[in-house]
Amino acid sequence: MLYQSTRGSGDRLTSAMAIAKGLSEDGGLFVPESFPRLSEEAIENLVTKTYSERAAIIMGLFLDDFDPQEIIRYAGEAYNASGFDDAAIAPVRKLNNGAAGTYFLELWHGPTCAFKDMALQMLPRLLTTSLRKTGEKREVCVLVATSGDTGKAALEGFCDVPGTRIMVFYPRDGVSDVQKLQMTSQSGGNVNVVAVEGNFDDAQTGVKAIFSDESVRAELDEQGYFLSSANSINWGRLVPQIAYYVSAYCDLIANGEVKLGEKISFCVPTGNFGNILAGYYAEKMGLPINKLICASNRNDVLADFLDTGVYDKNRLFHTTVSPSMDILISSNLERLLHELSGKDGGAVSGYMAALSGAGRYEVPPKVRDELSRMFAGGRCSEEDTYKTIADMFNKYGYLIDTHTAVACKVLADYRAFSGDETPAVVVSTASPYKFCDSVLEALGQEPSADGAQLISVLEEYSKTPAPAPLRALDGKTPRFTESVPISNMKSAVMKFLG
Ligand SMILES: *Cc1c(COP(=O)(O)O)cnc(C)c1O
Repeated sequence: MLYQSTRGSGDRLTSAMAIAKGLSEDGGLFVPESFPRLSEEAIENLVTKTYSERAAIIMGLFLDDFDPQEIIRYAGEAYNASGFDDAAIAPVRKLNNGAAGTYFLELWHGPTCAFKDMALQMLPRLLTTSLRKTGEKREVCVLVATSGDTGKAALEGFCDVPGTRIMVFYPRDGVSDVQKLQMTSQSGGNVNVVAVEGNFDDAQTGVKAIFSDESVRAELDEQGYFLSSANSINWGRLVPQIAYYVSAYCDLIANGEVKLGEKISFCVPTGNFGNILAGYYAEKMGLPINKLICASNRNDVLADFLDTGVYDKNRLFHTTVSPSMDILISSNLERLLHELSGKDGGAVSGYMAALSGAGRYEVPPKVRDELSRMFAGGRCSEEDTYKTIADMFNKYGYLIDTHTAVACKVLADYRAFSGDETPAVVVSTASPYKFCDSVLEALGQEPSADGAQLISVLEEYSKTPAPAPLRALDGKTPRFTESVPISNMKSAVMKFLG
């Protein structure tokens, strides 16, 4: 299986080369040339397997230049009881007296309590192996700009991995107290965490500037380092995510909820389009998916795109209670456009040039038809996010976070509007305890404490235990307290790498 750039130029690469490079030279993202098929029989064979076995089989189909035993070992190390607090790793929940045919795929049982763990527990293993396979001798330094969840998941994944360093920049006033303490209390000898005096876009722009700075690259090269990224432009972050869509389907079969071959839908709280794209790839492999429902918060650039075929980032940016979806440029949409336009790299280059120029592009009717065949979209206001959290807790005793609430509401709206009652899985992306302040507010509770102390307040109120890694935060003191203006991000990297 070989990989090519979404923008059409450049060589065809093995998966190890695509993972080691991260981004293609023409600015495009790496995509598989074709998709391995998952027959009904193959799916049936997965039903009796564990999560890590399912993941190893799915990932192995895409990473055929890796040793299969190696992948089995990595999946076993990434998805087990030492890192995850649920034996199923990615359990599918059905609510007592809940709406018929509605399920929740909980992707937040890992070490940092957000779905980013599903990929970032695997990525360091895939990346270091890819670097070995491609003969890279230098040490890799992973630079991350985070709106909260990616930073902690990447720190946890790369912590003390030999041959790697990791440096995370987060917006000083743009993450929740729990998210901040998760990052600033990170252990490990190869890690660094720095607050940026700005918002997420500032941090992201600063990191991109460091990546494209030739003098930085030359200086680091001299010291035996090179820079890499842990965000979802890297194929090594997407491939582990395909596994949980297949796994959820297997669980529904195992529990007698659907019959083999019957279609289901997924509703995904979406930001950078990485999570939902993995669902699309699962469908390309043959997983029986009816619709992928893309849920947006007030930043509804994707919902508008699905409605109109026009992607237009020229709009106000809103700060919401579901901050991991506060994004105006969804990078992974480029990969979807590549498929929908019949792998036309020229067309994709055109869209992306228009996006970085005028900030908008429009896809032709043929692409729009393809888009609406598989995807539906919807948006959820702040008020409805709160209301959904309260409803789910008051009616079913089920505590959900703000991002999951957005998806929950968008699914309900989609069903009411379309009449489509296909069994559907809401993809639950974070533990409610990562966003205690918003969740308590939704439940009508005046915040009576702050920071990590709110964790026990929410536990008390909901009678639901918080995940152990979050509970352990209360009383922890930050290890990293440095805060820099945007203009000093580069010197912070240089200082860290000595
Ligand atoms: C990252 C994140 C999302 C958005 O996922 P994308 O892959 O960027 O679309 C949604 N919810 C939570 C909790 C996240 O951390």
